[in-house]
Amino acid sequence: MIAAHDLTYGTRDPHGSGTGPDPVRDPWREPMRLALREAALAVPAGDVPVGAVVLGPDGDLLSTGHNEREAVGDPTAHAEVLALRRAAARLGEWRLTGCTLVVTLEPCVMCAGALVQSRVARVVYGAGDEKAGAAGSLWDLVRDRRLNHRPEVVRGVLEAECARQLTEFFRER
Ligand SMILES: [Zn+2]
Repeated sequence: MIAAHDLTYGTRDPHGSGTGPDPVRDPWREPMRLALREAALAVPAGDVPVGAVVLGPDGDLLSTGHNEREAVGDPTAHAEVLALRRAAARLGEWRLTGCTLVVTLEPCVMCAGALVQSRVARVVYGAGDEKAGAAGSLWDLVRDRRLNHRPEVVRGVLEAECARQLTEFFRER
């Protein structure tokens, strides 16, 4: 999770905010828009706007989640954890084989751990989190070669929109 001060969003990936066609990121723009809408639902409770969706192997929407840490007083109620739990409940099993989690902010260590445990095939995120990100920024837990399951990572999808939503939230507080 991120601190209310000293924000550093973005990515060191020079291709993350390019203008031309981007075959790696373009397929995930629509689900990222869903995640952005989900993130906005966190704000009325005073939660940091982070939103996530889980897509099944065929790209169908399995679940959504937004940060509910303040709303329910639960330190583990991050968007990714909630979306993973709901996807597993919907599938009736904990293994999310072939699934993709799309989230507006780079996962923290806890969520990166949950993503590895869930066996998702892919993690897609928008804004990087240079202060706490565990999918390529501060750590790269999801792609640690010592783990036997390593999801593919796509970073920088709608990065500017995702970063702006977070920056505006903190500016208004
Ligand atoms: Zn998290």
